[in-house]
Amino acid sequence: MATPLGHALAGVALGSLATGRHDLIGPRADLALFAALAVLPDLDFIPGLLSGDMAAWHHGASHSLGAALLCALAMALIGRRRGGAAIWWAWAGFMVWASHVLVDYLTLDTLPPHGVPLFWPFSAEYFRTDNWVFLDVKRGLSMAVFWHDIKAAVWETLILAPLAAWGAWFRLRRAAIAQMETEA
Ligand SMILES: [Zn+2]
Repeated sequence: MATPLGHALAGVALGSLATGRHDLIGPRADLALFAALAVLPDLDFIPGLLSGDMAAWHHGASHSLGAALLCALAMALIGRRRGGAAIWWAWAGFMVWASHVLVDYLTLDTLPPHGVPLFWPFSAEYFRTDNWVFLDVKRGLSMAVFWHDIKAAVWETLILAPLAAWGAWFRLRRAAIAQMETEA
């Protein structure tokens, strides 16, 4: 798994890219929504935490394109309730959830289960790349683990922050222009 920071940055980048000029809630709120949604798949460690084995459910069904489709469906329903364009809510939901699956697919994975069950529920097979881009997050209280995880977070930031910044800049600039036009 990658760090929550890396997932949030990837979510902002992919969410902004997917929705382009279409706001869901608003330019700023959407960035927060994308970041929050992108870390949700990792909450699958919570049932394991409660049962004493953190990895029991981790990297399970939530790390799949099937889960991204379920997220799209949930987002479409939320969008429709809010009176928005359900199709853009669904598309953003799919892309942001899929960004998490993609980043974990591209991450060095040293703990079982290795990779992500990409095609759940149609296949239980796990997929991972041998050409990983991001470092794994280690768990433990030693300084070696601490520095390893800092290195992983810095590396993710170096790669993903420029993409997230571009997405945020695009949205916030457009909002600023729209505000100037209404004030003029
Ligand atoms: Zn994950």
